[in-house]
Amino acid sequence: MNRDLTIEALLGASFDCGCGKHHSTRFSRMIMKSGAIAELPGLLEELGKKRPHMVCDTHTWAVCGEKTAEILRAASVDLTFSVLESPEVGDLPADELSFGKLCMAFPTDCDLVISVGAGTINDLGRYLSYITGRDFILVLTAPSMDGAVSGVAPLIQNNLKVTLNAHAPVALVADLDIMTKAPMKMLSAGVGDILGKYNCLTDWKLSNIVNGEYFCPTIEGIMRGAIDKTMKAAEKLPERDPQDIRTLTEGLVLSGMAMDFAGNSRPASGAEHHISHYFEMQFLFDGIPAVLHGTKVGIGTVMMLRLYELLAGMEKPDFAALRKSAAERPPFEAWETEMKRAYRGGAPVVIDLEKKNGKNSIEGLLKRLDVIEARWDEIQALAASAPPSARIREVLESLGAPVRPEQVGVCPQYVEDGILYAKELRARYTILQLFWDLDLLKPAKDILMKEFVKDEPR
Ligand SMILES: [Zn+2]
Ligand SMILES: [Zn+2]
Repeated sequence: MNRDLTIEALLGASFDCGCGKHHSTRFSRMIMKSGAIAELPGLLEELGKKRPHMVCDTHTWAVCGEKTAEILRAASVDLTFSVLESPEVGDLPADELSFGKLCMAFPTDCDLVISVGAGTINDLGRYLSYITGRDFILVLTAPSMDGAVSGVAPLIQNNLKVTLNAHAPVALVADLDIMTKAPMKMLSAGVGDILGKYNCLTDWKLSNIVNGEYFCPTIEGIMRGAIDKTMKAAEKLPERDPQDIRTLTEGLVLSGMAMDFAGNSRPASGAEHHISHYFEMQFLFDGIPAVLHGTKVGIGTVMMLRLYELLAGMEKPDFAALRKSAAERPPFEAWETEMKRAYRGGAPVVIDLEKKNGKNSIEGLLKRLDVIEARWDEIQALAASAPPSARIREVLESLGAPVRPEQVGVCPQYVEDGILYAKELRARYTILQLFWDLDLLKPAKDILMKEFVKDEPR
């Protein structure tokens, strides 16, 4: 279908699509400009809100919260706020303690929650507004990840990442005067989260080919437009031109809207996110300070695009031999033991998922092998259409972003386990599962370990 796919045209969009689905997003209000926070009092009046409660951490209070409070108070708005203490190392965790502090300071007579921040503060505020039944406004301080307009909040519960229902913002306020001053590591993390879409869109199409999973070319088009624009702006980000910051922010916001359109996170999350989540889980278990989401996704993207390159250059596998050896794959019990080792406290969730989904069952494997053999040329052409991993690596490195897991403190064992087992985190079909289907995941792991890890385990 031919439609205007700019962000302005898509705000609050609701349309019947050529893919057969009706797409809609409730996200409809965005003020992105220089001096945007000065428009907050008018926005509150328009929304009929009189007693907002603002949520910050000490860091976002300094960069934007204090100024926002001044503006609201100067307009005689009856404002209350909570400022969480930022840790000296790493970022504030979105866990029970942080959330508990916000709950205990929550004024029950407030009629709106405003988060001033990016990742964690956004997630905490969104969830707080949801469980207290208040509307939510996000004042974004940095374009570091794509969860700004999402209707779910990834939080940490018992050292495990859980995704809980939350309120999407009724309005997003992005002040370019503040965003252009965001730390480079946050900008490069935003770029990493966006460039990850090159991989996840390819994963999505791959699943459409292999499993017949629903796929929407319009949503894909929206995302491709956003990532291509971000790719062009990325290397100029150190100059901090507001237009480039806007391009990056729009890309991240569009990713959130694309998830609304699809009804799940397929257009924004594939194997590059699964491997990032796997590393994050290990950090949580080991008590290592958090690394920005988009930074880990950027690393995962370079690794997964490398797998697509291997796929594009591969000889056609011997499918008859693969079918014959299918029954020799490790039995469920052996796999379960590996999950308990690799996932520790997270193992029960992963094991339950496999019991329900059976994506490693021999029956499912045999079915997929037939399709992969029949559509091999199409699959290789898809793999060849993904951008070269070296190009993505170059862009991230030009921003000073890490491109190998060890640069953010992931030990070789976790890298190895991540490549082999990150696919077990979700029922979603990705490049990692395709390599498993072809019985090539272990050899591919060996190649990635040589290229991405200096000190291999064992
Ligand atoms: Zn569609
Ligand atoms: Zn992401």
